Amino acid sequence: MVLHDLLLNIGEQNPLGPFMKTQRFSGRCGKELPGDAPGQQAFTLIELLVVIAIIAILAAMLLPALSSAMGQAKLIKCVNNQRQIGLAFKLYQVDNNTKFPPLGVSDWVGGSSEFGGGDPDRRTVIGKDMLAATNRPLWRYTGSGKLFECPADRGADISKVINLPATKSVFKDTGTSYRYNNNPWTLTDPQFPLADPNKGLAEKAESWIPDPVRHVLMQDLPALPWQNDDGTSYYHSWHYPSGPVTTSGLKDFSKKAVAPVLFVDGHVTSFNLAKHFRDNVKFPAEPTKDRVWYKPKE
Ligand SMILES: [Zn+2]
Repeated sequence: MVLHDLLLNIGEQNPLGPFMKTQRFSGRCGKELPGDAPGQQAFTLIELLVVIAIIAILAAMLLPALSSAMGQAKLIKCVNNQRQIGLAFKLYQVDNNTKFPPLGVSDWVGGSSEFGGGDPDRRTVIGKDMLAATNRPLWRYTGSGKLFECPADRGADISKVINLPATKSVFKDTGTSYRYNNNPWTLTDPQFPLADPNKGLAEKAESWIPDPVRHVLMQDLPALPWQNDDGTSYYHSWHYPSGPVTTSGLKDFSKKAVAPVLFVDGHVTSFNLAKHFRDNVKFPAEPTKDRVWYKPKE
């Protein structure tokens, strides 16, 4: 029996019983039109409702899968962006005696947003002093800002930390969704001083890095929280979001906090950092078995 026959049978049985008559619809004006073939059956209200219910059930079943597939597609795009930016870093280093690019000129997050990407939004407090796209060191190796936009970038809200309005897109404000040489704006354990707490790996030759496979070169913004001087952390959630874009503390933080990370050797890995953040509330940038954010002082 095909679906159409099944629906017709349901309609014929009339589940509303003798108390309510089902009305047959022509699908146009509710009555047979002169052009209709003789004997052709239209559909009843019940049939229409059954079809709508089936469509609603199918949509409810498919939507989570669709949403997950879209999330995966965004993650793949972000990883590909970072791989290509990794190649741009390598090309820059070939032309500069293996040295990494310098930091930017603005005070914002240690100048870690001005290595590549598009123009910043000059109307914002953050973007007004940043380097223009064509003055950023990786510009000539990428020639485009779009590569620096994470497709899951949904901004950040640190308005409770400093007097700045929440933003809907970090890419639009700063020209990039990514952070290069990120450590200078994250707290680290004072027991383990940094080899260079001001510049990190910027302008160093690659041989300065002891472990290029584990050393982070660049990452999606949410791979590290924003930390206040008093140690309060503000966590961002972009890929597979399940709550607000920024949360202070981990109570409402997403359990699936995925962020891709580019390493000095050029490979990119996506980490689910939810557990790492929960286990390392005070110093989330301390080394793990597969990530190092800074070179320690010898
Ligand atoms: Zn991303």
